Amino acid sequence: MRVSTDRATQSDGRMFTVVVESLGVGRQRQAERRITVPFSQLQGLMGTIARQGGRITAVLSSDGQGGTAEAKPETEPTATEASAPAPAAAPAPTPAHHVSHADVPVNTYKPKDPFIGTVVENYSLVGEGAIGRVNHITFDLSGGDPQLQYVEGQSIGIIPDGTDAKGKPHKLRLYSIASTRHGDNMAGNTVSLCVRQLQYEKDGETINGVCSTFLCDIEPGAQVKITGPVGKEMLLPADEDANIIMLATGTGIAPMRTYLRRMFEPAERETNGWHFRGKAWLFMGAPLTPNLLYDADFEHYQREFPDNFRYTKAISREQQNAKGGRMYIQDRVLECADEIFAMIENPKTHVYMCGLKGMEPGIDEAMAAAAAAKGLDWSELRPQLKKAERWHVETY
Ligand SMILES: Cc1cc2nc3c(=O)[nH]c(=O)nc-3n(C[C@H](O)[C@H](O)[C@H](O)COP(=O)(O)OP(=O)(O)OC[C@H]3O[C@@H](n4cnc5c(N)ncnc54)[C@H](O)[C@@H]3O)c2cc1C
Repeated sequence: MRVSTDRATQSDGRMFTVVVESLGVGRQRQAERRITVPFSQLQGLMGTIARQGGRITAVLSSDGQGGTAEAKPETEPTATEASAPAPAAAPAPTPAHHVSHADVPVNTYKPKDPFIGTVVENYSLVGEGAIGRVNHITFDLSGGDPQLQYVEGQSIGIIPDGTDAKGKPHKLRLYSIASTRHGDNMAGNTVSLCVRQLQYEKDGETINGVCSTFLCDIEPGAQVKITGPVGKEMLLPADEDANIIMLATGTGIAPMRTYLRRMFEPAERETNGWHFRGKAWLFMGAPLTPNLLYDADFEHYQREFPDNFRYTKAISREQQNAKGGRMYIQDRVLECADEIFAMIENPKTHVYMCGLKGMEPGIDEAMAAAAAAKGLDWSELRPQLKKAERWHVETY
């Protein structure tokens, strides 16, 4: 939903009336409300409405023009050109792709009253000979009131069916969202996850993780309790010229997939209005080639956008590092240290890390060594990057 901003500026003196349906916390519908604000407050108001689960049905300008908004992701809170007789009437206060930090939806659904989503599909992401199971699972979110909406880089909670050893309902587990806000089908009503089944040996017995097994085994049509969305650590910058370095191992690829789809998937680019022009560089760590997740998509993006996307793999059990040992992601970081640091010197560069907690010390060590080679002190630089919101870590 995009509208020309030609006529709207921050000094625009016109008033706007936002017509809202079902404003209120929880799922209780309330009568239609009309809220009139000056242009300077329009963006903030739309963000507040989005956070509170309201549905904007129209935005009317003081000069009498306006339009009817469809139920669109509130994370793109712009006025509409959809069915309006006067399409340019309601201004988009920000570019259509931009969601300010404060406006990112959080906790629309809480554990006490979760959204019940329906499984649309569940398929394996790993090839033959891979270690373990990793599945891509998609849930239908339609019918929610308010609809569960999210942006790239957030997570949702899943409450598995059944009870724990004490007979109490299971607690939720968090999973990074692997689809963009438009969903894999671009209809804006699904969410996808990338889930590895946790398995370990204890006293000679194989133990299966409760929720990850529940999800990997689940069949299309099944209903699942979903909470969230949560998380603001892994949000993408709005800047179309930003550079994005991504360090992922295993299912840590989930947020990176959302970024890369947003940047390079043709249907996404058409819809989201975000014309990424920076450099994206994905470092992906996996034990074996069949464990590389979404590999064909990323190879494709690299072929189609060679100036904007670079894809570097560390396949530990197949490749060797410079010392003849297994090739881990931190070895690739060290190999590319000069280029990585040249990028980091640019204030438009952001680094994202996601995967198992165990990856952090290795990356830190590699970054420290790479920084030292450039005469920099990583222990000083990292907090600076973090403070500047350019160093984003989500490990579990
Ligand atoms: C922000 C965030 C995002 C996440 N994103 C993802 C994601 O995208 N994909 C994904 O697959 N997971 C993700 N996770 C992990 C996920 O939340 C679950 O922790 C994971 O699926 C395991 O849950 P489970 O119910 O299967 O395991 P549980 O049944 O809860 O078992 C886990 C417990 O088993 C024990 N355990 C685990 N390993 C061993 C071992 N080797 N030896 C002995 N005991 C052990 C530990 O006590 C551990 O707490 C994320 C976690 C967080 C916090």
